[in-house]
Amino acid sequence: ELKDNTTIVVLGASGDLAKKKTFPALFGLHRNNFLPKDCHIVGYARTKMDRDEYINRVKSYIKTPTKEMQEQLDEFLERCSYISGQYDQDESFARLREHLEDVEKGRAANHRIFYMALPPSVFTTVSQKLKKNCYPDRGIARLIVEKPFGRDLQSSRQLQKALEPDWREEEIFRIDHYLGKEMVKNLLILRFGNEFFGATWNRNHIDNVQITFKEPFGTEGRGGYFDDFGIIRDVMQNHLLQVLTIIGMERPISFSAEDIRDEKVRVLRGIPAIEPKNVIIGQYGKSLDGSKPGYLDDDTVPKDSRCPTFCALAVYIKNERWDGVPFILKAGKALNEQKTEIRIQFKDVTSGIFKDIPRNELVIRVQPNESVYIKMNSKLPGLSMQTAVTELDLTYRRRFSDLKIPEAYEALILDALKGDHSNFVRDDELDASWRIFTPLLHYLDENKEIIPMEYPYGSRGPAVLDDFTASYGYKFNDPAGYQWPVQSTVPNKL
Ligand code: NAP
Ligand code: NAP
Repeated sequence: ELKDNTTIVVLGASGDLAKKKTFPALFGLHRNNFLPKDCHIVGYARTKMDRDEYINRVKSYIKTPTKEMQEQLDEFLERCSYISGQYDQDESFARLREHLEDVEKGRAANHRIFYMALPPSVFTTVSQKLKKNCYPDRGIARLIVEKPFGRDLQSSRQLQKALEPDWREEEIFRIDHYLGKEMVKNLLILRFGNEFFGATWNRNHIDNVQITFKEPFGTEGRGGYFDDFGIIRDVMQNHLLQVLTIIGMERPISFSAEDIRDEKVRVLRGIPAIEPKNVIIGQYGKSLDGSKPGYLDDDTVPKDSRCPTFCALAVYIKNERWDGVPFILKAGKALNEQKTEIRIQFKDVTSGIFKDIPRNELVIRVQPNESVYIKMNSKLPGLSMQTAVTELDLTYRRRFSDLKIPEAYEALILDALKGDHSNFVRDDELDASWRIFTPLLHYLDENKEIIPMEYPYGSRGPAVLDDFTASYGYKFNDPAGYQWPVQSTVPNKL
């Protein structure tokens, strides 16, 4: 339940995340009446601004196409205030505390949610200063934390150790924003709420699973941060592994946060560390027509960078349900399209009456254009017994045309306000996920002779990609054999 008397403190309120995600999400919650009645939002950062400057800045982060929204924004801004201060000085945080006390005057409780929209370099210090100076004395405290949670198992544990003396696990909300996405949340319902999916969800029926993240743009002059992390740390160890975990986990005893997270940890513990032989890495070069720059042309990237901007790898889950089924994770920047999808390819039907009939696929498109479809064989209408690949299709825009799909951050901040941990990463889960990826990451970091394969900006990835997926059993069907009818494309209304 939502608690009245709550104040949300956004640390790093002047930054990119606050601008792109945090404030728009808070506004979304405000206008849908999901913020506690008296909820106040305090920004904190070093940048010196007076209230007007700050309010104008927050205003510029939020789009208000209608008059109604403009009025809602004015109401929202009344909830907002700002304090500037350093990240490493008690005096600054004492001023933050005084401001919080001012805001909370006359309230029965002082619940405080601290949203860390800060670079990891100051994260530990700030969490310590907050505990010392701003921890509520008559209310609940919560700390919302953003990735990166370290760069390998060891640094992730160090970060965790630094938090432990001050913050209890139930006070910490580690965001993996994929867990806030509508389709990812739907996975539990699809799997456990449908007998026909539940019954086939195993190694007897599923041949291979692909979880794919594709971005159509490169680092575009902002490669500094990315180069230090690479695509594996940036999206695979966290977002794609989370999706894999939910596809792979057993049925939780209930929808409670700890029951769900217990099952997630269990399946992660059944995954051996990724072996380098099951991995290919790539880095984008110029587009074929030369109009788009290569990764190394980005001035913020070292000229000799070996940073992977593309990776495909296979993961196995060693348990009764999944033994032998490859989960192929693919992620890349500067590719031919934008999409995140899960593609579950079923086994061949028993041979005999059919020759080479295509395999069924269940595709769950996470973004854009959320949809779930099954590619299935059907008789082509007419007098012959010819078959055709068709689809059972659930396109969200068409089926739920009058419902809005909330932004992941709105859903997650609301969960944190309610104290629901289901869609946040638990400490042991984080540990288990780093254990799977750390040996590979160290292997790639240490072996300087391993150079990523170049692929053209705007392509589907390195040339070996399709042989790689085929070697794990993925059968690609002749695209001429399956056409998605163009008239089915519903205009983008949402
Ligand atoms: P950011 O814009 O670089 O930093 C946020 C604020 O922190 C800045 O406005 C700045 O505020 C302060 N800051 C920046 N560099 C600093 C430094 N070296 N030392 C001390 N303070 C510094 O970061 P962000 O992109 O908003 O990201 C915040 C966190 O969210 C990071 O952990 C990031 O990995 C994570 N994240 C970001 C995104 C995104 O889309 N941006 C997405 C997912 C996760 P002042 O100078 O005013 O103090
Ligand atoms: P598809 O676009 O044909 O891709 C199928 C899979 O094959 C992907 O994993 C893709 O990998 C891979 N692939 C592509 N070219 C390949 C090649 N030459 N060799 C080996 N593998 C290759 O997907 P589809 O499911 O058949 O859908 C076809 C089109 O219909 C898509 O545009 C889809 O959006 C549309 N459709 C839409 C809906 C809907 O909106 N509800 C429903 C059904 C179909 P990569 O992902 O790495 O490229």
